[in-house]
Amino acid sequence: MVASEAAPFAKTGGLADVLGSLPAALVRLGDDVAVLLPLYRGIPLPPGGPILTLPVQVGPHGYSVAIHEIFRHNVRYLFADCPSLYDRAGLYGTASGDYPDNYIRFAVLCQAALGVARSVFRPDVFHAHDWQAGLLPVYLRESLTLDPTFFGVRCVLTIHNLGYQGSFPATAIADLGLDRRLFHPEGLEFFGRLNFLKAGIVWADAVNAVSPTYAREIQTPEFGFGMDGLLRSRASKLTGILNGVDYDEWNPETDRHLPANYSARDLSGKRVCKRALLEEMGLEEMGLEELDLPAEARRPLIGIVTRFAHQKGMDLVAKIAPFAEAALVVLGSGEAPLENAFRFLAARYPDRIAVRLGYDEGLAHRIEAGSDIFLMPSRYEPCGLNQIYSLRYGTVPVVRATGGLEDTVDEQTGFKFRDDLAGAVEAALREFQDREAWASRMRRGMARDFSWDASAVEYQRLYSKAPVRRVASGGPLFAS
Ligand code: ADP
Repeated sequence: MVASEAAPFAKTGGLADVLGSLPAALVRLGDDVAVLLPLYRGIPLPPGGPILTLPVQVGPHGYSVAIHEIFRHNVRYLFADCPSLYDRAGLYGTASGDYPDNYIRFAVLCQAALGVARSVFRPDVFHAHDWQAGLLPVYLRESLTLDPTFFGVRCVLTIHNLGYQGSFPATAIADLGLDRRLFHPEGLEFFGRLNFLKAGIVWADAVNAVSPTYAREIQTPEFGFGMDGLLRSRASKLTGILNGVDYDEWNPETDRHLPANYSARDLSGKRVCKRALLEEMGLEEMGLEELDLPAEARRPLIGIVTRFAHQKGMDLVAKIAPFAEAALVVLGSGEAPLENAFRFLAARYPDRIAVRLGYDEGLAHRIEAGSDIFLMPSRYEPCGLNQIYSLRYGTVPVVRATGGLEDTVDEQTGFKFRDDLAGAVEAALREFQDREAWASRMRRGMARDFSWDASAVEYQRLYSKAPVRRVASGGPLFAS
């Protein structure tokens, strides 16, 4: 597998959670898995030094990439160490924008993967994740067709979010050592620019999205980001496989980030978590005394953990907050105008809205556990993990019926809406007052199982059935 993130080493979102858990699930099924990612700043170097050093050539640029290795849950995590490219403050950029050489940084990662495959880990399948690994199948099929290492090797691409495509000026082509003849609308070009994700979609032997509903949605203009035509033309090699979650990390019975553990059999620890969360977020004024009242009189706590991006619909939350009779805790970071909106709301309603701007793994767990309701009004959501964590934590999800939210939350376990966010929140707040109905809903959600077992088997099927294509650039893209 080749990816730009893997938990616990480097994480900005759900991609990392998947790379931290799917490989181990495949290993449990008997596969041998290596994951290659950049050695970013802050990832502790394993003792013993690199296992090999690769010369990597990308167009006119030569790099020396040292490969380090860590075993975790019997998965080989390999780190590409190239300080001039990866030893930086952020994974993809800083507050002022993406790094302008991201196309070089991730092209080098793809070339390093091919080098690793030649020398220390000879795969049957390359599994590329998102645009950062999009050039892997292109290099594989266009420049290595005569290399026996790669005869019969398949290449699968997973789309974790079509909204992030790796789009660069056409001039990057020469810089990347790619054949200019591949730059056309049926190849690497997307509206005059070089597009890494499109490259992956065109050249991979099979493509999947991270939930069945999202795989269908991206073939429509509404969710296709301009690629719906391309994806429709590839419908026969496009599937949806729902992400699983790692219940070793996300389990209220054992979670080490919580002040108290609990289960569906004994929910008393969840009250402790709520009380502690209200205190941690400075909402104790209104919260604590109410906690001692009977459930009917208690104020429900709505939790949100998110990236502040247009996708996540936080502007819609800002419009309807504060909620009647509910408190709100928000953990997130991202776009400045959205951060400012929530800063403002917390200042305006200090007794009922608390906001933490930043990234905090422990607090994310405590919000999952301490909230009564978890809100995800995403405009689109490829899979979404937090709603799945919420189910296990007895925190009732209120979600938009889209993508993986549609596939994981049902009428028995949560509240879904298409357009009426406020109506869905109201319905949840109303049911919260019915203690028994609420407790049964919590318990039904806690009993749902989204572990990797089933989805990892689906990936195995995808790996084995993907037809191997030798050269992709010759074929028509919009085949009938
Ligand atoms: P996406 O990948 O689009 O951000 P997902 O729901 O698939 O959304 O995954 C988000 C993951 O990132 C979850 O594990 C969530 O807990 C975590 N996360 C998001 N924002 C934060 C934050 N500010 N602090 C801690 N964890 C966060």
